[in-house]
Amino acid sequence: MDSQNLNGKYETISTKDNPEKIERMAELMKEILSLTSNYSENQSKEIIEKTPKRFIKYLLESSEGYTINIDDIVKDALFEVNNYKDIIIVSDISFNSTCEHHLLPFFGECSIGYIPENKVLGLSKFPRVVEAISKKFYLQENLTRDIATILDSYLKCAGVVVIISAKHSCMCYRGIRSYNSETKTIFKTGLFNQTEYLNQFYSLLNMK
Ligand SMILES: [Zn+2]
Repeated sequence: MDSQNLNGKYETISTKDNPEKIERMAELMKEILSLTSNYSENQSKEIIEKTPKRFIKYLLESSEGYTINIDDIVKDALFEVNNYKDIIIVSDISFNSTCEHHLLPFFGECSIGYIPENKVLGLSKFPRVVEAISKKFYLQENLTRDIATILDSYLKCAGVVVIISAKHSCMCYRGIRSYNSETKTIFKTGLFNQTEYLNQFYSLLNMK
């Protein structure tokens, strides 16, 4: 995509999206807030006038993954390897995403393991790929699956495993209000469906 700067941060969708669209969305947000009980009576002019646009920009930033082409991230970073057939792990990649049910953030850490056939991906690309995929509206289960299957499609490797541990705002601050709960998900392909490889992954992951 032409608007991406692959050497640094992505240009945010809120800056490249057209200003008319952002204004229109902010007006709609204003209306939603005005229908919230006593909102306009109790709030300052600053909040009433400017917060809707801030929220819309946040919403657009949280969904900018829909405009990112993963090809652009990985295309120059796949390298040949010979005779390396063991596990590679990139652990504790911080991420944040947005729950598709409540549009509230969930965030935590993602660890990835894979067993190459003959290709490896540059290490710094793993956090980039995780960031690009997770900036969408997701269920954690599907996010875990997509990170694994998308990486698998590029690496064409003997197996990928992705583990995510995350806190969900929708569980902490509304509904059940379970502040300390963490949700863990795992998705695995190929050799990681065999206990031997999965156990090796777990022991390497816990190695200090
Ligand atoms: Zn939720």
